[in-house]
Amino acid sequence: MKEKIKETYLKLKSESGSHSPSIETLLEIIGESTLKHDFCFLSNPLATGIFKSELDDLIKDKLKWNRTVEAYPPQNRAIASYLSQVLKVNQENIIIGNGAVEIIQMVLHKYVKENIMIILPTFSPYYEYLNDTIRIEYFHLKKENDFQLNTGELISQCRDKGIKNLVLINPNNPTGTYMPRKEVLNLFSELKELDNIIIDESFIDFAYEGEFEANLSTVNHIKDYPNVILVKSMSKDFGIAGIRCGYGIMNKEKVDELLETGYLWNISGLGSFFFKTLSRPDFIEKYKKVKVEYLKTTIKFFENLIKIGNTHSNKIRVYPSNANFILIEGLNGITSEYLTINLLAEHGLYVRDCNDKIGLEGDFIRVAARTQKENEYFLNSLNSLLL
Ligand SMILES: *Cc1c(COP(=O)(O)O)cnc(C)c1O
Repeated sequence: MKEKIKETYLKLKSESGSHSPSIETLLEIIGESTLKHDFCFLSNPLATGIFKSELDDLIKDKLKWNRTVEAYPPQNRAIASYLSQVLKVNQENIIIGNGAVEIIQMVLHKYVKENIMIILPTFSPYYEYLNDTIRIEYFHLKKENDFQLNTGELISQCRDKGIKNLVLINPNNPTGTYMPRKEVLNLFSELKELDNIIIDESFIDFAYEGEFEANLSTVNHIKDYPNVILVKSMSKDFGIAGIRCGYGIMNKEKVDELLETGYLWNISGLGSFFFKTLSRPDFIEKYKKVKVEYLKTTIKFFENLIKIGNTHSNKIRVYPSNANFILIEGLNGITSEYLTINLLAEHGLYVRDCNDKIGLEGDFIRVAARTQKENEYFLNSLNSLLL
């Protein structure tokens, strides 16, 4: 059985390029019963439940359900107006995407010219979706510095290399490293001469600076920087990747230009229902509760993982993280493949093997935070694997 799991996993991995094999595909082959918990996908599992109960109500309401499925969904600008109230951002600066990857794709294709600076390791669509003619410059985060970004160095490299476009993911995926808002705004001010700065805040709700309710996003500052484009996925914090909801905040001219050439009905009825639900204060209150609960559990989980790392410092190294996932490096011959396959075959745990991530040299796996019970199971499993 273990051999079959190993073989299947390796085959699927080689077929799926720079993303993990989807859990669906994996389960079809190795069987539902092998997998206990998915620590690969990065979403808040508690949040999925609160939107599901909204969906249950929708399905029960025959008239509303029919309208959602049978009719065309609201147009992009109408959905932007729901979001405008929630974010306190002008509707004219918002464009809705069928997942954040659609925003990434439209922006890279339409506005990125000449060259782009990408910070490695990164979320791969940022370099994969680029047109062939774009020169890519890479800025490497170093594991010796726990992948912390040296902004002074980044700014001077952007100037020295005549960089026109920059991508910044905060907190960064897959490192979980995070820059406080003040530092990000400073970077915006220093790099006003760039054509575009893309800031991806898809994980900002999972960052923590000592206060659970704090808003750490730069969303209300984008209007001060016409070259800044904010990208935000709803997949991870709301646990709804299957519904495909994301958005971009950018200057009005860009929004107008993009909407003149497409994206009119790019959001499904269900996606539109999600954004409508988001504009309800009682839903936001429910979301905040599960967010705080998840953050508390996550912080505890990471503290415990770091303890295991310290106990087994000859076998693994656990890196600090300010997101809802964490990097673990296998040391002294413990490979990422060994960790991934054994966690799956012995304990039914699915993690992200990062051996295909460019700019991540070494044997890394990425582990997402789940519910408290699942996290405890993970800690015990990892402990027994390292004994
Ligand atoms: C997952 C992810 C996205 C894409 O999210 P979707 O809304 O599901 O398309 C964008 N940026 C980063 C950094 C991500 O990790």
